[in-house]
Amino acid sequence: MLQAIRSAGAFARDGAPSRWARTLAYAAAYAGSAGMVVAALAMGLLLQRAHIGVANIALVFLLPVLLAAITYGLMPALFACLLSVLAYNFFFFPPLYTLTIADTDNVVTLLIFALVATIASNLAARVRAQALSERQRAQVTESLFRFSRKLAEVFGLDDLLWAICYQIAQMLKAPTVLLLPEGGSLAVRAGYPPDDAMPEEDVAAALWSSQHGAPAGRGTPEFASATRFYLPLRTGRGTLGVVGLEGDEAGLPLGSDQQRLLNALADQAALAIERVQLAEDIESSKVAAETERLRAALLTSLSHDLRTPLASILGSATSLKHHRAALDEDSQAELIATIEEEAERLHRFIANLLDMTRLESGGLAPKLEMIDVSDVIGSALNRAAHILAQHRVALEMAPGLPMVKLDPVLFEQVLFNLLDNAAKYAPAGTRILLRARLDGTSVLVEIADEGSGIPEGDLERIFDPFYRVHSADHKRAGTGLGLAICRGFVEAMDGTIVAFNRSDTHGALFRMAFPVGAAT
Ligand code: ADP
Repeated sequence: MLQAIRSAGAFARDGAPSRWARTLAYAAAYAGSAGMVVAALAMGLLLQRAHIGVANIALVFLLPVLLAAITYGLMPALFACLLSVLAYNFFFFPPLYTLTIADTDNVVTLLIFALVATIASNLAARVRAQALSERQRAQVTESLFRFSRKLAEVFGLDDLLWAICYQIAQMLKAPTVLLLPEGGSLAVRAGYPPDDAMPEEDVAAALWSSQHGAPAGRGTPEFASATRFYLPLRTGRGTLGVVGLEGDEAGLPLGSDQQRLLNALADQAALAIERVQLAEDIESSKVAAETERLRAALLTSLSHDLRTPLASILGSATSLKHHRAALDEDSQAELIATIEEEAERLHRFIANLLDMTRLESGGLAPKLEMIDVSDVIGSALNRAAHILAQHRVALEMAPGLPMVKLDPVLFEQVLFNLLDNAAKYAPAGTRILLRARLDGTSVLVEIADEGSGIPEGDLERIFDPFYRVHSADHKRAGTGLGLAICRGFVEAMDGTIVAFNRSDTHGALFRMAFPVGAAT
């Protein structure tokens, strides 16, 4: 990483060619052109020895002019043209080895040669320039394509900002920073190489660029003394932020092609930022809506489930207090039983809420131990005896069931919730079946009732917190938490729980599967 940062730090030096490198390149072009003329001269002298006419040798001198135009561009080609005219005159026209020309015919030949060479070099240089700009355009298109593909792969805003800086810095060979609005100003949110130094002049330039939607800073009339050149990132929705590029010692850090590329990169970056910001907005409004839904469900459930038993307790207690003398033994016992029953319901409700809180806060640590599931089934049935009084309970335990690693308290709570539901949602007098058997390497525990079952579309959703099937809503008290707690507890013990509708008769069937662990 450090290495990458260090090498990235050399951008300004080896990126846009420095003046020194440019001078060297020019010198090489002129030297190359001169070399080509020398080669043509050698060839011309050889041809002369072979008695080829001087007029034809002019064609040999056209070669270096055309080659220089194609290889180096117009100016070196004109330079080659000038050298060719001089060499042609010096070595081939009498008097030899002087720059004077005796024959007027030769003057005409030389002038025509110079004219042809100039026109040809112009044409060749133009073809070269066109080819170069085509190639550059193709490179830019390819760079943009790669850039947009890279950005499309990123989802989080911070990762995206970093990727934008990295890509721009790599493509334009200039250290890059990205600023986004924060608290009425702009703050550096990413930089490659990492750098969040913002001199005062740079802050002002970036702000100006963001507010005016135009470039500012180094190399522009606005805040020219800033260390970076700032470009706004704009979309149809306005300016989203500013990208800043450091330059070398020359004013603008970028050539005009690079400037065009930067503009295109900034447009794409702005679109990518907008995409991620919109996605984040949608996500957070979804979370807010979900939280709101849960809060509303909790409030509805609280008001219903606390009020109903409280009203019964209050009513029974008031009757006992004021009319005790007028009530016979049985009526009094009935009122006391109601108080007891409703208080138990309240207790269950609050215990459910606490369990749910423990599950949601991740504070649930099951105390696993090797247990015999029939023991826990027995104690759950005992605890639910009162609730199951109106139903017939049938037990089908396969013989020789292996021990399973479970938390007996949590498992009993799961069984209790399922039995409570079976009693609630299946009519009195029907049968509730409790079954345990071995299936491969898992112990299956099933609770089946003879109620109306669960709509197919709700079989999975009933495990969501606060989810209640509508038709059941008003008829029976409940929070919609029981099954969510069952699933939370069962999964915390490495098991699974699913709901079915019975195929042998009507009614719901809940199946839990627990892997048979090694005995400790
Ligand atoms: P609650 O019973 O408090 O509403 P649960 O989470 O225990 O909450 O159950 C969620 C929903 O699943 C219930 O409202 C009910 O519609 C449905 N449900 C649960 N058990 C059964 C069952 N045995 N038969 C039919 N429907 C059931």
